[in-house]
Amino acid sequence: MKNKCLQDIGELALIQRICRKLPQRPDVVVGPGDDCAVVRPDKDSAYDWLLKSDPVIEGIHVFPKTPGRLIGHKALGRVLSDLVAMGGEPMWALVDIVAPSGTPAARVDQVMQGISALARKFQVAVVGGDVSAGLGLEVHIFVVGRVEKGKAILRSGAKPGDNLFVTGSLGGSLAGKHLRFMPRLKEGRWLCRQGWARAMIDLSDGLATDLRHLIHQSRVGAQLFLNAIPVSPAVKRPKNLTDRIRHALSDGEDYELLFAVSAVKTQSFQKAWQRSFSLSCTRIGTVTKRQGVIETVDGRGERKPLKESGYEHFK
Ligand SMILES: [Mg+2]
Repeated sequence: MKNKCLQDIGELALIQRICRKLPQRPDVVVGPGDDCAVVRPDKDSAYDWLLKSDPVIEGIHVFPKTPGRLIGHKALGRVLSDLVAMGGEPMWALVDIVAPSGTPAARVDQVMQGISALARKFQVAVVGGDVSAGLGLEVHIFVVGRVEKGKAILRSGAKPGDNLFVTGSLGGSLAGKHLRFMPRLKEGRWLCRQGWARAMIDLSDGLATDLRHLIHQSRVGAQLFLNAIPVSPAVKRPKNLTDRIRHALSDGEDYELLFAVSAVKTQSFQKAWQRSFSLSCTRIGTVTKRQGVIETVDGRGERKPLKESGYEHFK
């Protein structure tokens, strides 16, 4: 097919095309393909820098009826969640606002209030950005943070035998969580500083898709215990467990952390977690050698390849 459109190739192929010949520099530690980029401009510094940007678009991520404050909260929360997924600490943000000329000025004020409230909570300074007229409301945020040198938790560090954990509960995020989530900063920093997690990703597209990202980057496979997956009470219907689990796998926008802990550390990790946090942390599977394969195990011990996938743009 000549002149393929984005809907023909899909999100992943588009990203691959974009990333094909990107200019690089020797101070880039991790380029495109993880939750954030990692750069090391000063070899003697105790820190690496984390860079991330993300758009929130009315009609895609939020709706014309979504209150401005919640749009701002979500726009900053998404990039902070990616920084947290590297084990990092967010520090500075730039905010671009695009809006049609007829947008009430108060709506932009509300977006900024939502951004500022979350930024204050996480001690992030908003240090600039820009505005532009456009066809719909869009909030683009670029955030910079830091992590102890060489300690960023990548998607690529999982090893066969590791145990897979998720924080909180999954699914049903459209009921409200996608606008009101709190990035798991304390937990992510702790996992990094204590060296518990050796691979991590935040759940933005849904467990099914984000687990695939993690195993592909780590060149491993996974076994997923379906009945162990913590389904959010926000998944009100259906009542049937299999369908509820399907929501937890595919709804997306959970903004929880998925990470791998080595088998030998798992027991002490679970005890330490319980001492440190009230948030739940659930073992949902293991890492296997079968590269690229996710096998699910249901309550009766029946094994099947995972079919579900999460949100994909352009489809
Ligand atoms: Mg992410």
